[in-house]
This record gives sequence, structure tokens and C-alpha cells, in this order.
Amino acid sequence: MSTAEWIDTSMKGVTWTRTCKEKRVQRGPLTQDETADLVVVGGGFCGLTTAITAARAGLRVTVLEGGIVGVGASGRTGGYTVPNHPHGLTPGDVEERLGPRKGHAFNALVAEGPNRVAELVREYGIRSDYLQNGWTLPAHSSISLAKVRTAYDQWKAFGAPVQWLDREQIAAETGASGYIAGWKNPVGAVVNPFAHSQGLARAAEQEGARIYEDTRVTAIDQPAPGQVVITARANGVSRRVQAGKVLIATNAYTDDLVPKLSKSIITLYLYTCATRPLSPEILKTVVPNKNCFTDLRDATGFARLDVEGRLIAGGAVFVSAINPRNYGLKYSRDKVLMLFPQLRGHDITFQDYWEGYNCITEAYLPHIQRLKPDVFSLLGCSTRGVSLMQNLGLLMGEFFGGRRNLDDVPVELVDGVRTIRMQGFKTAVGRNIFPIFQLKDRLRLT
Ligand SMILES: Cc1cc2nc3c(=O)[nH]c(=O)nc-3n(C[C@H](O)[C@H](O)[C@H](O)COP(=O)(O)OP(=O)(O)OC[C@H]3O[C@@H](n4cnc5c(N)ncnc54)[C@H](O)[C@@H]3O)c2cc1C
Repeated sequence: MSTAEWIDTSMKGVTWTRTCKEKRVQRGPLTQDETADLVVVGGGFCGLTTAITAARAGLRVTVLEGGIVGVGASGRTGGYTVPNHPHGLTPGDVEERLGPRKGHAFNALVAEGPNRVAELVREYGIRSDYLQNGWTLPAHSSISLAKVRTAYDQWKAFGAPVQWLDREQIAAETGASGYIAGWKNPVGAVVNPFAHSQGLARAAEQEGARIYEDTRVTAIDQPAPGQVVITARANGVSRRVQAGKVLIATNAYTDDLVPKLSKSIITLYLYTCATRPLSPEILKTVVPNKNCFTDLRDATGFARLDVEGRLIAGGAVFVSAINPRNYGLKYSRDKVLMLFPQLRGHDITFQDYWEGYNCITEAYLPHIQRLKPDVFSLLGCSTRGVSLMQNLGLLMGEFFGGRRNLDDVPVELVDGVRTIRMQGFKTAVGRNIFPIFQLKDRLRLT
């Protein structure tokens, strides 16, 4: 199935559209051929932030988005803005994988990323309910406690402002039951990601970028150095943009714009859901500090509230379930009641449910692929893309604008496409593994 079919511009069921304070601007499709210094394919966090800094550096930037701004993962995330690596990776693991120089810079980008997002919010007046009250990593078991402690020790040694919390403190911080201890980084934040995408698009346009929606790139050719021809379809008509450089920022929604590009990532199919607004009384006990947390369970436990007091939960879609939506909602209901037993007897009907795609690389770290001399992709942010993809995008825009070397963007640089062995099989496994994750958690193997 083409990833084009994954794009649902209705944003049906996405809670963030209910509370979006940014004006939703309808941008027209590309209606004529044009030229640009830089074409960005994809209007998510990565593409839009790249457009901001590249346009600010004086480039003529065109963003081509197949759906609407934020329609991919960016407008659909849980909005957890996390200063930590995914999948239990520690700062030390990252330095081992990327080497000391890039590893250190990548760790800094992750540790301080939410602060840079806060600067963007301030600078452009983005109305995305960005609230920097911290993020917490709680330990749910003795196995996870060892990992949580290692991560804490390494971040502390790195210089991140982490604080260790004992059992009582972690309960007070999260409002949740069953956690043994953990740590908090006050830099972490929550955001309305759909509103944030709209605000970033406004900022990019303010800097001079042009953004076209409903314009799907279908081919990218480089006939000569410094000359890239991008073909896109809009309203059933093919248009061309001649550009100096191209960034493919399509993350999980990547098609084979360059042969086999989609095989360089494993796509994950995720869902998020939101309860009805909780009562003011119960809100004093559930995530009372209006921050967020994510734990190290395989079928992760996490929680945050939206601005109207909805509890946001979610997991991976189990595609082989008779009804994947009902399966996900039942799982989330059970998980919410386990984490917050004080909700028993209260209305925790899920008002909203939505799905989206995200992607990982085998190293759980994003990479830049140089696909042709002037055509790049930046993909594979794993499940921590809210802050990371914006921060990487800002750096990529500076690179295109001549203000930074490519080697100073602290991710691995790959020449050509790095395909993943048995990518199709691994992606299929990802669609069916959620019950196994749950079982491992129940058996206390995580
Ligand atoms: C349900 C869900 C929950 C998540 N929760 C969190 C979270 O709480 N915290 C966190 O840190 N991360 C979370 N993530 C991950 C995070 O959202 C992503 O890593 C991040 O938003 C990726 O941004 P992006 O700009 O790289 O890609 P995307 O936002 O996916 O943007 C890619 C864009 O490319 C467009 N596109 C694709 N092909 C073409 C084409 N040929 N032509 C033109 N346009 C094209 C798509 O329409 C899309 O808009 C979540 C992801 C999902 C799916």
C-alpha cells in the first residue's frame, strides 16, 4: 500500500483539533511550475523547522506537503516533549553509536531540545499551549529501576538538570500508583502538536517560505550538480519545481521517491486516545503538576493532560485484532485504571481515538541519507520526534543556508540509501507485537 493512502487530511478524531488556538490556514496546492533554492518535502515538525532557518538565512524555500500541514505524525502525536532517548538508550549508548563528538552534540540536542522549542514558541508567538513543567521517567519494576538509575546517573554526569525522586516523590509528581522511584527533568514539556504545526508553518511563511498543501511529490531527479527537478501532483496535474537542493522530511510517510528509500526505515503504527475532560476534583490527583511521564514498560505507560483536562493515553495498533480500535481502547482503559486507581468509579469514557505512523531505524537514532549530490533525507526519529525533529530541522535549515557544515548536524550521515534487512517482515512484526509486549510487562520481564 502506498503511504499516500495513510494521509487522512480530515484529522478525524484528533483531540488537538478541538483545542487548537492557532488559526488553521487553508493553503492552496502548487498551481504552476516554479524555482526555489531549497525544496522541502513534508510539512511536519522536521520540514517546517528546516524551512524556518533556511528561509531566515535568505534562501527561497518551497515546502510541498501531500496533505495539510501537521497531517502526518506531527499533528497527531501525544505531544510529550521528552529530553531523553527512546527505547532505554542512554547518553553513553549514543556516544558509542555516534562517536564522542557527534554523540555528545546529539545528547545535548536531546537534553536541551525542549528549551529551543520554547524559544520558537516565544519568538513566533506560537499558540500551542506549550507547558514546560517537566517530564519524568518512573521505574515500574526492579528490572526497570536499574535502567532508570543508569540513565539518571549518565544524564547527571552529562550536566542535565535531572532530579532523583523516591517512591513518595514520584507518586506526588505523577499522581500514578505503583512506581518505585525515578527521575525528573524539568526541561520536559507538553504541547498541542497540531496547533504547534500550524504555528511553525506560520513562522516559516513569516520568514519567507512558500508552503503548498495537497501537493504530493512523485519524483525527484538530479540531472546536473546544483540542479534538482521535483515533480509533484496537485489537483490531478503534474507540476515541476527546479531547485538547488532538496530535503525529504517525510518520516514514516516515506514512499520510494528515491528507489528503496522506504526500506531505510521500519514504520510503526500507533494510536492515541483521550478521555472526556476529567472532573476538577479528580484532576487534583491525576498528573497534578500538569507535566508528563513515560515509563520503560514494553507497552509503555505514559500520561499527560490536555488543556481541558483530558487524559491522553495510547499504544501500538494491533492490526490482527478483530477490531483494532476497540482493542486499543480497552488496553488504554485498563492501563489508565492501573496507573490511576483513583479513577475507578469515575467517567473515563474515551472521547477521541486516532492513529498515525511513526518510524525507527535499527539503531533507534535518526540519520541523514545523501541520496543524490543535492538530495537528502532526514528520517527515523523513533518515538521521540516532537522535540528532536524540530531541533534537527532547525540545524538542517542552517546547513542549507550555508551557516553550518553538514557534519555539524549530530546524526549519522549515510551515502545513498541504507536499506534495512527484512524491512517488510520487521514492519509486519511491529503491527502485531503489542500483545506480546503486554504479556512481557505482566510477567514482570520488563
Ligand atoms: C500516534 C503517535 C504518537 C506520537 N507521540 C509522540 C510523543 O508524544 N512524543 C514524541 O516525541 N514523539 C511522538 N511521536 C513521534 C513524533 O510525532 C514524530 O517523530 C514526529 O512528529 C515526526 O515529524 P516529521 O516532521 O519528521 O514527520 P511527519 O510529521 O510524519 O511529517 C511527514 C509529512 O510528509 C508528508 N509527505 C509524505 N510523503 C509526501 C510526498 N511524497 N509529498 C509531499 N508530502 C509528503 C506527510 O503528509 C507528512 O505531513 C508520535 C507519533 C505518532 C504517530
